[in-house]
Amino acid sequence: MNFTDAPDVAEFRKEVQSFLDEELTDDFRQPDEAILGVGVGENIHDKAWLKKLAKKGWVAPAWPKEYGGAGLSTAKQFVFNEELAHARALRPNFLGIGLIGPTIIVHGNDEQKKEHLSGLLSGEVYWCQGFSEPGSGSDLASLQTKAVEDGDEFVINGQKIWTSGAHRADMMGLLARTDPDAPNHKGISYFLVDMKSPGISVQPLTNMAEMHSFNEVFFDNVRVPKKAVLGELNRGWYVATTTLDFERSGIINAVSLQQLMLEVVDATRPFRNGSVVARHAIADRMIEIEVAIMLSYRVASMQEQGLIPNQEASITKLYASELAQRIGKTAIGLAGLHGQLGPDSPYTPLAGRIERMYRVQVGSTLAGGTSEIQRGIIAQRGLGLPR
Ligand SMILES: Cc1cc2nc3c(=O)[nH]c(=O)nc-3n(C[C@H](O)[C@H](O)[C@H](O)COP(=O)(O)OP(=O)(O)OC[C@H]3O[C@@H](n4cnc5c(N)ncnc54)[C@H](O)[C@@H]3O)c2cc1C
Repeated sequence: MNFTDAPDVAEFRKEVQSFLDEELTDDFRQPDEAILGVGVGENIHDKAWLKKLAKKGWVAPAWPKEYGGAGLSTAKQFVFNEELAHARALRPNFLGIGLIGPTIIVHGNDEQKKEHLSGLLSGEVYWCQGFSEPGSGSDLASLQTKAVEDGDEFVINGQKIWTSGAHRADMMGLLARTDPDAPNHKGISYFLVDMKSPGISVQPLTNMAEMHSFNEVFFDNVRVPKKAVLGELNRGWYVATTTLDFERSGIINAVSLQQLMLEVVDATRPFRNGSVVARHAIADRMIEIEVAIMLSYRVASMQEQGLIPNQEASITKLYASELAQRIGKTAIGLAGLHGQLGPDSPYTPLAGRIERMYRVQVGSTLAGGTSEIQRGIIAQRGLGLPR
């Protein structure tokens, strides 16, 4: 692993840093819940920040240039993500730009690309991901929502759950079963669904931090045109698992946790009274954050060499998400009794963010694949243990 930027990458880092120095004001900083992987969806400042990024061509750093992206190399994407995380800059439309857009670029036909990519880039069209169901989360391929062919359309019935941002979304990337007789992975299709379609209802789910970020979504005879199928019919599982040669190191997460911890250390100084226990806890978390950053470097350096990280990405996700929970717990401890106070109290440090952080980060070891699932991947693919 080479820790030094190649000359062109070093130059690019400087360009990103000076852009952030000039353009990044407090309005454009990432909220805690987004850092902790429990994004609440669109922020009122998203579009203004997107416009600034667009001037540099940096809205979609990983997309090929022909589709409006920056076409950056893996090393430059890593640096871009690292610098934005250091500065705590907003990452608007992260799901759309990071997952839905690339999936459309790889599997979409010309009409679908024309219809959907520009809305993603401008931030005009907000997307959500309708994969999980009440009985299908870790075992996603067992999903039961059905789409039945009827003339030029499919008729969708079923239910999705934990759908982040569905209450704000214009569109959904939806997985539904189109061949109930085929083996689980082979009878699923991927649909691009307009959330205004008659028959869709969105019910809020409030998380344990009393925030509304995800939802239940019900489909009652929802009719979608056949052109809404992305990729081949019944091959939706493979469409959904598209991973492009994009930067997926988790560096944003690791560096963001570092920024969060530094803020906590600063804000809790008046409550610690020079406690040695507190000092040790801070040192432990800061060292663990360095470990998370090193794990991210490892994934990025593999991608740079054209290798596909597998268990390495799971190790990084597992470590960073469990670390986020330890940081929440440490933060509460550092602030003492004040740490438990909400935003309404005049005695609360960081405007109640510590208490909210503690509750909000519970979801970080579930979202995007639970810790048990990551451990299973590491055991089987990494250590070669039997199933
Ligand atoms: C904050 C947040 C945002 C989310 N956003 C979205 C979204 O936008 N769209 C979407 O589709 N989904 C979303 N999800 C859902 C998420 O993908 C699922 O919660 C996750 O995949 C786990 O599925 P589950 O909740 O059904 O739990 P289950 O799969 O039922 O798991 C229950 C428990 O059993 C364990 N378990 C299950 N299988 C195994 C196994 N094989 N080996 C060992 N242990 C196992 C799990 O680790 C877990 O502890 C979100 C979740 C969270 C927390």
